[in-house]
Amino acid sequence: MNQIFNFSAGPAMLPKQVLEEAQKELCDYKGCGMSVMEMSHRSDLFRMILEETEQTLRTLANIPLEYDVLFLQGGASLQFAMVPMNFMKHGKAAYILTGHWAKKAYQEAKKFGNVQVLASSEDEQFSYIPEWNLADISNNTDYIYICENNTIYGTKFTTLPNINDKPLVADVSSCFLSEPIDVTKYGLLFAGAQKNIGPAGVTIVIVRKDLIREAVLPEIPTLLRYKTHVDAHSLYHTPPCYSIYMCGKVFLWLLHIGGLEAIQYYNQKKAMRLYDYLDHSRIFKGTAQRAYRSLMNVPFITGNSNMDALFIQKAKEHGLENLKGHRLVGGMRASIYNAMPMEGIEALLACMNQFEKEYGVK
Ligand SMILES: *Cc1c(COP(=O)(O)O)cnc(C)c1O
Repeated sequence: MNQIFNFSAGPAMLPKQVLEEAQKELCDYKGCGMSVMEMSHRSDLFRMILEETEQTLRTLANIPLEYDVLFLQGGASLQFAMVPMNFMKHGKAAYILTGHWAKKAYQEAKKFGNVQVLASSEDEQFSYIPEWNLADISNNTDYIYICENNTIYGTKFTTLPNINDKPLVADVSSCFLSEPIDVTKYGLLFAGAQKNIGPAGVTIVIVRKDLIREAVLPEIPTLLRYKTHVDAHSLYHTPPCYSIYMCGKVFLWLLHIGGLEAIQYYNQKKAMRLYDYLDHSRIFKGTAQRAYRSLMNVPFITGNSNMDALFIQKAKEHGLENLKGHRLVGGMRASIYNAMPMEGIEALLACMNQFEKEYGVK
């Protein structure tokens, strides 16, 4: 098999050990004669997978019992609607706009109530995290919303907008489990699996129990109410069984390598290597402001779109895949999630170095 490194923002790399283990169990899960893909979601065997997956996640992320853990469908994008539908008791929310995904969530929320923009960094192409003033929040605001790690622009919140009695809702799709997390700071957090956790198809929602109540509007569809899924322990209808099973394997892998402290240490080492190179390069330049740099998504440019295209092509020839930046911003982006090994970073740096020698001083 060709060694390639996949820098895609998602669906992204999975740990090799996890894929190999799944391969061993593919046709016959633990001697039951069936694949997990073929199993009833009501079977004892699958219930056990679901329970173990949740328990491992609870251990890994230190999730208190006052929080429910849900495994839902519809991607992170469906949460953009479910959050306002379920949480807008007074029809009011405050959003911080730090990129494409935060804006999408904001636009969706506006369909359900009054949405205040607490701060925005759109004035400088979302290259930083703006300051906010919690005193600006209007009365009866039901929640504060952020996108904690901005997958496209490569920025991350360094502190959280916490305020008494107003739940913080966070989209953590591209940073969940990349470092230790204090779940108690959030009212609800969610992550689509395909960035840093597992295959596409499942979205993890962690929600404080006291925030779960009957949906705000009676006409909200059953499947779009958190309460439905809480009451049924994610088995109201058929869940994405195989994706959940794979996430469980990734959680165990993380525990075995030392948990979130260990992966944070490794992620910092990887990101620092790359940022340090970018800071000293004569050709390549990172686009996110230093203070807000993401550990997971590293966008960079040469400043010349032809050179960018040439580099992406050369990188591909070296087995470095999916380095093209998001269509909204162009340039390059290296997504270096948990499963990206240091060897991938070294291979990328070697390729950048060679490119720099060949196409040298501008
Ligand atoms: C990818 C991404 C999304 C969209 O996820 P889907 O599962 O495709 O809906 C939302 N938010 C963030 C931060 C993302 O990175």
